[in-house]
Amino acid sequence: MKRFGSFHAKAILFVFYVMVFSGFLTGAILFILHYFGILRFSIFNPLLLPLVALLVSTILGLGLSYIFGEHVLKPVRILTEATRKVAKGDFSVRVPEIEDDDENEVAEFLRSFNKMAQELSSIEMFRNDFINNFSHEFKTPMVSIRGFAKQLQKGGLDEQQQKEYIGIIVSESERLINLSSNILLLTRYENQQIISDKAVYSLDEQIRQCILIFEKEWSAKGIEFDLDLDRTDFYGSREIMSDLWINIIGNAVKFSYDGGRIDIRCTHSGDNIRVTVRDHGCGMDKETLDHIFEKFYQGDKNHAARGNGLGLALVKRIAELCGGYITVSSESGKGTEFSVNLRNQ
Ligand code: ADP
Repeated sequence: MKRFGSFHAKAILFVFYVMVFSGFLTGAILFILHYFGILRFSIFNPLLLPLVALLVSTILGLGLSYIFGEHVLKPVRILTEATRKVAKGDFSVRVPEIEDDDENEVAEFLRSFNKMAQELSSIEMFRNDFINNFSHEFKTPMVSIRGFAKQLQKGGLDEQQQKEYIGIIVSESERLINLSSNILLLTRYENQQIISDKAVYSLDEQIRQCILIFEKEWSAKGIEFDLDLDRTDFYGSREIMSDLWINIIGNAVKFSYDGGRIDIRCTHSGDNIRVTVRDHGCGMDKETLDHIFEKFYQGDKNHAARGNGLGLALVKRIAELCGGYITVSSESGKGTEFSVNLRNQ
């Protein structure tokens, strides 16, 4: 409001200056014409003043319209053209900005337009990336399922091969189910702003239960757990938090070496709760560490069959939703530690 107010004030002041200026100019021209004897007149001639005033106003009007058109309306014309392009879906368009102070509305308008176009193009890029990644993650298991199903359909396989192919079909279907449930969860949590099903429950007990979910995997790899879980009551959503632990503990198991150890600590001081999950597995390099919370990012494409890169994006969103945050430290070949910081509120 303040800015539009200042724009109106400037416009009124401008018109006032133009009126005063044309008055002065008319007077000056009459004086010069009279002084040099070019035009002899009586200042009482009733036609003279309006005629000269008309002439001066016309010249002044034409000049001002030219200046106004060039300097004031030009950015508006450029903006109209650029807006038309944005409406057609071309988000790469940018308008030339004017170097000016913050009070200039046109300069600010141009800056805001460029900012808007920039935002729209990054949303578009993000959308395209998301669709590409999703299509890729979806297509790979589907192609594999179709291939092995066709082999089974042809027949002529011995019992061992049949079992192997059916096993692949089952695990690839599980991968698809996992992908769609993660997408659904992520979309749900991204659109959710408040947690409605909050209740006090035992966080340490929930962590123990989540470890048991992966019993088949960790016992197959001979992984041991070192638990140091303080009795901790947490006021939050049991269901949402369970998705967080499943992803972090699942990753610790997945990226641990055979015969490895996973240390889990849960401590609290006042309302602050801290849970650390440390594995001694393959760890990550700096490049991977910088991207792990991005959707579909997978540090090692060789692990592609064992994940879809959505788990940590989900973990990050859940922590934010619960008013907490996650930190991570890792070293290639030495292991990784995730630290989940929560607050009872
Ligand atoms: P996914 O595990 O399905 O690949 P995530 O989003 O859970 O997807 O993890 C993204 C990436 O982060 C993984 O591909 C992996 O490179 C890295 N990562 C996550 N947790 C660990 C861990 N505990 N140890 C080593 N790397 C990890």
